[in-house]
Amino acid sequence: MQMLTPRTPIEFSDPLPEAVDVVVIGAGIVGTSTAWFLAKQGKKVLLAEKGRVGAEQSSRNWGFVRQQSRDAAELPIMMEANRIWRGLAAETGMEGLAFTQSACVQLADNVDALARMEAWRELGMQHQLDTRMLTRAEITEKFPALSGDFVGGMMTASDGRAEPWLAVPALARAARGAGVAVIENCAVRTLELRGGRLQGVVTEQGRVACDQVVLAAGAWSTFFADNSGINLPQLAVRSTAARTNKAPEDAPFNISMPGLSIRRRADGCYTVSTGDVAEHYLSRKSFRYARKFLPLLKKSARDISLKLAAPTGYPGSWGMARRWTGDEETPFEKNRVLHPAPSPIVVRRLEEDLPRRFPFLHGVGLAEAWAGMIDVTPDAVPTLGELSIRGVFVATGFSGHGFGIGPGAGRVMADLVTGRDPGHDLSRFRPERFFDGSPIVPGPY
Ligand SMILES: Cc1cc2nc3c(=O)[nH]c(=O)nc-3n(C[C@H](O)[C@H](O)[C@H](O)COP(=O)(O)OP(=O)(O)OC[C@H]3O[C@@H](n4cnc5c(N)ncnc54)[C@H](O)[C@@H]3O)c2cc1C
Repeated sequence: MQMLTPRTPIEFSDPLPEAVDVVVIGAGIVGTSTAWFLAKQGKKVLLAEKGRVGAEQSSRNWGFVRQQSRDAAELPIMMEANRIWRGLAAETGMEGLAFTQSACVQLADNVDALARMEAWRELGMQHQLDTRMLTRAEITEKFPALSGDFVGGMMTASDGRAEPWLAVPALARAARGAGVAVIENCAVRTLELRGGRLQGVVTEQGRVACDQVVLAAGAWSTFFADNSGINLPQLAVRSTAARTNKAPEDAPFNISMPGLSIRRRADGCYTVSTGDVAEHYLSRKSFRYARKFLPLLKKSARDISLKLAAPTGYPGSWGMARRWTGDEETPFEKNRVLHPAPSPIVVRRLEEDLPRRFPFLHGVGLAEAWAGMIDVTPDAVPTLGELSIRGVFVATGFSGHGFGIGPGAGRVMADLVTGRDPGHDLSRFRPERFFDGSPIVPGPY
């Protein structure tokens, strides 16, 4: 079993509290980590999930816990996340599953790509990260299972991997152990505001009074915000990945190269993807935010293909309601778990390229493929901070690299909510940046 789906049995069904200090909307890696850190600070927390814990992006990703190639502002938070991940195994009882130290490796097939890696390594060195460059000869020597001509690469030995569909529910169990009420099939429909002030939230199971809210709803965040009159620029792209059948551990690292990424899994298989295809379903928001996304479109190394319409019930699909009240069924309940079909083009390319790049995988074949909807901001770094309604915070738009940084983002969000110094410069992530005339400068995507 690979990812979590709408058919995954409900595990978390705590009673709905009448009142809490903080409601966290969405139990992906970010919301779950935030709830956990808030509870550790003694806050009474409800973690409300419309479907299943971790079932959207957070169980569908490749499982790379990667520090290298991060945006400069993300790197210190990611380095902290790496330290948190190391402690998670002990705290969640998930040794060998929640986190395994395992180098992330990026290979370049041209000198320009290699020069960009070298420039990034300078940044890593400023933070005392153990990133180092790889020569052509070292690549041949270190990865004998790999076939191809690479001009060089970059490797960070302290990076790691985790099994996403196991790690996030384990984290939710730890959060519950710390006192968080965790409830699946519990969409938060609306914020309850009186005179513009937050009073609580309305969930499909009833009302909960609270002083603060953290919106960590992944690809749905922009729609939830919109319904409360908050403009949160974000679009979604479909990204496909697959699992091989069991195979020898001849490729033990987490390797990315142009057109192929591969990581060893705890179950003896590999998670693989082409990594360079992003499919966007056109929606009203595509047109609304088109100008803000232009710098990213110009810079992105990905092949971005546009589809005319999202399947029914998807965030932004043409028939989806744009406004709703707390008394009616919302788009969140109509689609409990976003479960997109994988792209057949990506699957076909994987079937062709995988045995070519890794001859030992010849004849092994793909066991299954899946996809997730990635929430992307115009500058491909997350939006973290308090919104225009006092007490309403957001942690969203992790733009395809939120799994690794998730626990660090959760720690930062908990401190923001409780008024402590988060310990990192968060100005790059402020929600207002898309409206205050600042240039939109995309990070790595
Ligand atoms: C194919 C793929 C590969 C990736 N590979 C990597 C990788 O290797 N490394 C990495 O770091 N990142 C990777 N990512 C990105 C990473 O998975 C995401 O950035 C991260 O999981 C985002 O976590 P999240 O908690 O913000 O969002 P999500 O995991 O999407 O969680 C949001 C949750 O909110 C819930 N929700 C929405 N609306 C409501 C509501 N109104 N009420 C209650 N609940 C609600 C949803 O059901 C969902 O469970 C990948 C993503 C994909 C799709």
